[in-house]
Amino acid sequence: MQLTPSTTQAANLAETSRQFTAVFNAVCMVGWAEQITNGVKLHHATYYPLKAAYPALVSDLLVQARVKATEAVKSAFVLHKQGRTTRMPVSKACPPRYNVHTYKVDWESQTVRMSMIGGRQTIRFDIPAYTAAYAGYPTDSADLLFRHGRWWLHVVVTIPAPAVAPTEQVVGVDLGIVRPAVTSNNRFLGKRAWKAIEGKLFHLKRALQKKGTKSAKRHLRRVRGKQARIRRTNDHILSKQIVQSVEPGGTIVLENLTDLRKRTKMRKRTATSRRVHAWSFAQLKAFIAYKAEARGCTVVAVDPRHTSQACSCCGHTARNNRRSRGRFVCRACGVELHADLNAARNIAAKYHASVAIRDAGGLHVNQPIVSNLRVETQAATFRRAVS
Ligand SMILES: [Zn+2]
Repeated sequence: MQLTPSTTQAANLAETSRQFTAVFNAVCMVGWAEQITNGVKLHHATYYPLKAAYPALVSDLLVQARVKATEAVKSAFVLHKQGRTTRMPVSKACPPRYNVHTYKVDWESQTVRMSMIGGRQTIRFDIPAYTAAYAGYPTDSADLLFRHGRWWLHVVVTIPAPAVAPTEQVVGVDLGIVRPAVTSNNRFLGKRAWKAIEGKLFHLKRALQKKGTKSAKRHLRRVRGKQARIRRTNDHILSKQIVQSVEPGGTIVLENLTDLRKRTKMRKRTATSRRVHAWSFAQLKAFIAYKAEARGCTVVAVDPRHTSQACSCCGHTARNNRRSRGRFVCRACGVELHADLNAARNIAAKYHASVAIRDAGGLHVNQPIVSNLRVETQAATFRRAVS
C-alpha cells in the first residue's frame, strides 16, 4: 500500500528508517566482528547500548532491526563457509519491519496507525489496483519502504485456504529443456527466450569471474542481482501458469529436483545440467506451493530418474530413446513426440503408479518407485505480500 503522510509524518518516517538502518548496521558490525549469529546473544550484546544511542526508536523496531541483522550476518557466514567471498553486511536503507506491536491497519477507513520517531501516527493509504483483492484480510508483518519518492508499506496478509474438494485430475510438469515447463495436459509454459537470457548472463558472469579485477567484481555483483531479479519474476510467471493449468482441487506432480544437483555433477557439464544448476528450483517450488494452496491443489514430487528416457506410450526405457533435444523417438514402438511432453506424461504416470501401489495395500517399498514428497499440504493458510 502507498502511504500518503503529511510533511511532518514523512520526515518522521524518514528518520525512523534512518535510525532503523543505523541499528541494523551496528548489530551487523558486532555480529560480524565477534562472530555471533545467535539472536539472543546478539540481543544481549547490543540492546542496551543501542537503546541508549537511539532512545526515540521504539523498542520493538530496535528488536526487529536486530532480527534482520542476525539473518544478514548468519547468511554471510553461511556463504563464507561455502568458500564465497563475503563482507560484513551493510545497508544504506534497511526497510523497518513492523508487526502487531508497531502497526495496525484499518481497511475501512484506509488508514494505518504506526509507530515512528515522534510517536504513533495515523496515516492514510491507497491500495494499487493489482493488490486490491488482498485488502481486508488479517495482517501479518510489514516493511516500510521509500521508493521513487513515495512511501510504501509492504504488508503481508494471511488468507484462509479455500475449501476445495480434491479432484481426480493429475498433471505432470516437466521443467523442460526446450521450454521452461511442459505439462502432461499439453501446455507449453514460460518463454523460450528465458533460456537464452540465462545463457547470456552465465557467460557474462564467467568472463567477469576470470577477469577478477575490482571493477569486474563490482560488475559481477550487479549481474548477480539482475539475474536474481529476472529469475524471481520468471518463477512468478511460470508458477502462476503451471498452477492455472490445473483445475482447483487437482494434483500437480513435479520432479524432485533437489538431489539432481549432486547427480548432474557426475555427468558431463552439458547445457542441460547448467540449466538445472541455474534454475532456482527451490524458489520455483515454493512459488508453486503457495499458489497451488490458494487454488486448493496438492503438490507432490516424484523421483526424476528415467523420466526423459522412458516412452510414455509403451514404457520402453533406453538411453538412446532420446534422439535429439527437442524430439523423443521410441526405439520400441516408434512413437515420436515432443521430448518435454513425453517427460511430463511420465511424471504424471509415476504418480499414478505410486497411488496404485499404495491403494493395493502398501508393498513397503524397498526400491522406491516413487518418492513422494508432499509440499506444504498441512498449512491451513498461506501468505501473500501486498504492496
Ligand atoms: Zn514406445
